[in-house]
Amino acid sequence: MGELFHEQLQALRAQSLHRKLREIGTPQGPEVQIVGRQLVNFSSNDYLGLANDPILREAATAGIAEFGVGAGASRLISGTQSPHVRLEAALAKWKGTQAALCFSSGYAAAVGTIPALAGKADVVVLDKLCHASLIDGAKLSGATLRVFPHNHLGKLESHLDWARRERPDSRVVIITESIFSMEGERAPLRELVGLKKRFRALLLLDEAHAIGVVGLHGRGLAALENLTRDVDVQMGTLSKGLGVSGGYICGSRSLIDWLLNRARSFIFSTAPPPALAVAACAALHFLSTEAGEQRRQKLWERIETLRRSLAGGSAHFGPGKETGSAIHPLIVGNEEAAIDFSRALQLEGFLVPAIRFPTVAKNEARLRITVTAAHEETQIRQLAEAISRHRAESPTEA
Ligand SMILES: *Cc1c(COP(=O)(O)O)cnc(C)c1O
Repeated sequence: MGELFHEQLQALRAQSLHRKLREIGTPQGPEVQIVGRQLVNFSSNDYLGLANDPILREAATAGIAEFGVGAGASRLISGTQSPHVRLEAALAKWKGTQAALCFSSGYAAAVGTIPALAGKADVVVLDKLCHASLIDGAKLSGATLRVFPHNHLGKLESHLDWARRERPDSRVVIITESIFSMEGERAPLRELVGLKKRFRALLLLDEAHAIGVVGLHGRGLAALENLTRDVDVQMGTLSKGLGVSGGYICGSRSLIDWLLNRARSFIFSTAPPPALAVAACAALHFLSTEAGEQRRQKLWERIETLRRSLAGGSAHFGPGKETGSAIHPLIVGNEEAAIDFSRALQLEGFLVPAIRFPTVAKNEARLRITVTAAHEETQIRQLAEAISRHRAESPTEA
């Protein structure tokens, strides 16, 4: 027998679907260093530039000084440390819900929560473009799964209609994202809420890419649309706009009580490091200040700069602040072409990742550009110039 998985790996390479890690020797920020080379970073979800901000660094350091590094055990076993309690109170207050529960990642929040909401007798209905964590949680639940085409309300309605007719007594859970991670588009939340009420379903909304970005103080799409009370399960992550690490669920006290008794990724996993909870609290506090709101406004100026700089191209851009996000996909299609495009930009000093299957569908490979409040306007303009230069040279690629 040859090397383990040799043929499978070769097959991935042949399809331009092989992935490898790139070592970065610097903190996350608008510029990073890869193999000794400085690149302007358009790949990160650190939308407000908080990941390496002194506010968070100091909070985390103070957290370590007071609580050490490790959490020792699951919170149900060795006791729940004060930073986690404080963070959950702050999250609930910030989101306007009765309670909150933290997980060690957004992924853990999804795979722990969804199987606690639905079981074999139930129905889970997902948007086609939902994040892998939501799909994995739905599969793990053992519920009957139904998928509707991206943001397609008519198809969602017919699934709900089917579920209510065929399974009148089962729980029906609708799962979607407020801002889609690889598209940058928003969900039609008001209409979703209308449907969930009509069909007596629960709604789980993953706000991973909306937190810190939309709504006053970055509270997300449910808050922006004044629908907080209508979204039963509000999921999010501390790992993106908040610049830290970890996931959360916000909702009613009884929901949170149920999750802490049933969500296996919470029960059977060591609590996140307390210092990270201290840092996440500092991030939430910052967002609620005038300086935080200014930082968020700066992000929107940068988004606007990118939109204007790339205008006229084939980029999928929402029509503005009311529908936009910090994520801008440039759809290339072919996997190899996407990699070549990404490589060409890297040679010019820009880190823009090529996103391929299975993150997106086959032949829908793309460059995923994310801007942050920490970018300079000129960096964004230079990226747009490099993109249009590359397009002029290789018109088939984008
Ligand atoms: C990143 C992401 C997650 C997972 O969050 P982590 O904290 O990175 O594990 C969940 N849902 C969506 C939509 C995401 O983009």
